[in-house]
Amino acid sequence: MSMLEDAKKQLDAAFKYANIDRESWERLQYPQKNLYCSIPMRHDDGTLKLYKAYRCQYDTTRGPAKGGIRYHQGVDRDHCEALAFWMTFKCAALNIPFGGAKGGIAVDPKKLSHRELERLSKAYISAIADFIGPDIDIPAPDMGTDERVMGWMYSEYRKIKGGHPLDVITGKPVALGGIEGRNSATGYGGFYVLETLIENYLDKIRLPVKEDMKVAIQGFGKVGYWFAEKCYKNGLKVVAVSNEQGGVYDPHGLNVMSLHKNVLETGELNHQGAKVSNEELLEMEVDLLVPAAIENVITADNADKVKARMVFELANGPTTVEADAILNDRNILVIPDILANAGGVVVSYFEWLQNRNAEGKTLDEVNKRLQKMMSYATERTMARHLEHRIPVRTACYALALKRISEANECLGNRDYFKN
Ligand code: NAD
Repeated sequence: MSMLEDAKKQLDAAFKYANIDRESWERLQYPQKNLYCSIPMRHDDGTLKLYKAYRCQYDTTRGPAKGGIRYHQGVDRDHCEALAFWMTFKCAALNIPFGGAKGGIAVDPKKLSHRELERLSKAYISAIADFIGPDIDIPAPDMGTDERVMGWMYSEYRKIKGGHPLDVITGKPVALGGIEGRNSATGYGGFYVLETLIENYLDKIRLPVKEDMKVAIQGFGKVGYWFAEKCYKNGLKVVAVSNEQGGVYDPHGLNVMSLHKNVLETGELNHQGAKVSNEELLEMEVDLLVPAAIENVITADNADKVKARMVFELANGPTTVEADAILNDRNILVIPDILANAGGVVVSYFEWLQNRNAEGKTLDEVNKRLQKMMSYATERTMARHLEHRIPVRTACYALALKRISEANECLGNRDYFKN
């Protein structure tokens, strides 16, 4: 089954709780627009290679499409469609006036030199320049891309279109119209969701108090690191973290900041203590398990071995539909990706507003507003979860679905004209 088909099952579960019309539902079954292209890029040694690239705009009912650009060898059309689908519901759940998009190139960026990466990034934006735009579709970083890549892309877009359309891409370097706090936004946003759960729902979520909480995080990149840092600074014990090569473990808690410094200096995740594989990390005795790397890591094969009390999805789509059902049956609360990792798009929205209004925000202002929005979305979701006794994922989809459907109704559907 395709990733998109799998993702849509999450929506099926929410349909009856959202109480929406059939037309809105049908509109959300397929992406609105897709672009596929082949990008020629000359490598430093003179050889020419063609890279497959994609951009999907899943739905734009509530505003311009918004979503990151991923560089990974596994990127394909299905990946982009599923990721754009999740973006649609994430923006609606957070009540941001955007639809959902995603794009990417099938490439391992670690195998390219800096100059090759720059050429490829500029070639990609040149291929999609007429497909995107500040009021149409606004890209941002995702796995394998960062603010430097966004800076190159913006520079190429500006060359093609002229003027200074800063609001066409978010996640840019601060010196180039980027916003303070965008790098840490997804990790911090996740932490604000967790904090709201701890502060307001501790009796319902089976987690211990912060000081006794043990956390294991798969993925130590932009998202995993900043979440780990916030946990560390707030007194939670981050006992394990991993990257593609494997992970490290310390039952007394890792010093995540010095680990990260080491990763930046050496490229390696080095620690004196025990090693742990990515598979073992998912099955550790912890309170909070945080997949923050790639999709489909918790599956029907390992869901019954998860020992955490809560799975907190910072990656997009880390739990398959079958695994989700197993975790629910086992009373393990899953905080879904469309809520837990929405901090990135929230701060991207602030950046887009800042660029449009030609103004700036301080880091403190960004984080305070991010905290407020993440906390509000968590409360709205938890209210539905508790009222209907449905999984948190279903509750969050129902909330998002309702908002998209209401917007669709105002644009004029059958019932609107009937009334
Ligand atoms: P990143 O490239 O900065 O980091 C990815 C991390 O995952 C790295 O530590 C990498 O080594 C590790 N990794 C990759 N493959 C792995 C594997 N097979 N097993 C274990 N670890 C592996 O990417 P990121 O921006 O941190 O994104 C991570 C996830 O979060 C993705 O699912 C992404 O879609 C999602 N996400 C990112 C943002 C954002 O703002 N960057 C926002 C929302 C969601």
